[in-house]
Amino acid sequence: MSESLVIIGAGQAAAQAIQSLRAEGFAGPITLIGDEAYAPYQRPPLSKAYLLGSFARERLFLKGDHYYSEAGCELLLNTSATAIDRAKKTVTLSDGRTLSYDKLLLATGTKVRKLRCPGAELPGVHYLRDIADVDGLQAVFQAGKRIAIVGGGYIGLEVAAVGAKRGLDVTVFEAMDRLMARAVSVPVSDFYAAEHEKFGVKLKLRTGVEAIEGSGKVEAVVAGGVRYPANIVLVGIGVLPNDALARAAGLACEDGIVVDQNARTGDPAIFAAGDCTRHIGREGTAIRLECVQNAIDQAKHAALAMVERPKTYSEVPWFWSDQYDLKLQIAGLARPSDHIVLRGDVASRKFAVFHLRDGAVAAVEAVNAAPEYLVGKKLIAQGTKIAPEKLADLSIPMKQMA
Ligand SMILES: Cc1cc2nc3c(=O)[nH]c(=O)nc-3n(C[C@H](O)[C@H](O)[C@H](O)COP(=O)(O)OP(=O)(O)OC[C@H]3O[C@@H](n4cnc5c(N)ncnc54)[C@H](O)[C@@H]3O)c2cc1C
Repeated sequence: MSESLVIIGAGQAAAQAIQSLRAEGFAGPITLIGDEAYAPYQRPPLSKAYLLGSFARERLFLKGDHYYSEAGCELLLNTSATAIDRAKKTVTLSDGRTLSYDKLLLATGTKVRKLRCPGAELPGVHYLRDIADVDGLQAVFQAGKRIAIVGGGYIGLEVAAVGAKRGLDVTVFEAMDRLMARAVSVPVSDFYAAEHEKFGVKLKLRTGVEAIEGSGKVEAVVAGGVRYPANIVLVGIGVLPNDALARAAGLACEDGIVVDQNARTGDPAIFAAGDCTRHIGREGTAIRLECVQNAIDQAKHAALAMVERPKTYSEVPWFWSDQYDLKLQIAGLARPSDHIVLRGDVASRKFAVFHLRDGAVAAVEAVNAAPEYLVGKKLIAQGTKIAPEKLADLSIPMKQMA
């Protein structure tokens, strides 16, 4: 008799796990539980082309309509898993039902960090995590409207770029002294600040939002003691892992469900993958990644571990962000102590920042520079040592660096 698998969370990692498990010969029944109304879909377009209106909704879905039934996977949508009983190997659902499992995959992703200030609950305050959020925002996202964006990270800046393109009056409030400070180097932050200003976005750095005001709906944002009129507030101040279910079931959690390099939790029947996990990364430190790469690769490794062919997960993390006509691609994880090498001219809007650690490439941030990103990613994986002058020399093509 084949083993049964239950997956909690119908997102990027879940879709990949189903595909990989079937490819690896897992023959048992699979049940996928998702609390949203939709089968697994890709989130990255939500703050980019989908918000802009140039990306049809059907293209968001990771698999076709018949995929799940053909893959022998029952989809339970609009349904939450509310408890896990590890002794009985059961999952309780929001509709009161109980499902038994032989193996369980937790792929619960993250939830948005909420703004906590007076007025934060007023109608007109939006977040962007799922299709329903974009639908709600889309209804008011119109030319001429004033939007105040709280948080100068990827999501906030992607929405700023779309807003500017669609003729909204956009102001970004960022408490730190530069944009995307957690994720990119100073030259890249500065470049993006200049680009946003060029496209008419107003940037308020070192400016935390203190309150949102309005009678019955958003009318203004108060930041740094100044009142800024606004019709819409979009909050993008980060996410928190959905690990409460795992913690309640007694699994180790530390800002994410703790897994090993095979996506196993401490319970041999339970695995976890994607944004909800914390694992030991290729650099030997515990890390929680929030990106498509990790959701896909960790799900593949979870599938391999479930069919008893474990393979150590040590892929180079990668990420991208689209703002205006600029494609930012990042591979590896930079540290403030890295030696930075600039390749290309920032003014040409096509350049890369390499991060060298002990002489080897540890990370690359590439702006409209696909060869730098692709070769850089290879150099990181191979741990290649390379002279900074060589990396900076545009007369040497990237493919000769590898
Ligand atoms: C607007 C936006 C833009 C992004 N852009 C990029 C980008 O450009 N590049 C990039 O690499 N990454 C990007 N990301 C991040 C990327 O989408 C995530 O890393 C990825 O979706 C993680 O996949 P996951 O399967 O771990 O989680 P998710 O895709 O978040 O799926 C988890 C699902 O589980 C559900 N769930 C949680 N708890 C339960 C429960 N108890 N019962 C049932 N269901 C539950 C959640 O509602 C959700 O549907 C973006 C994310 C957002 C929101």
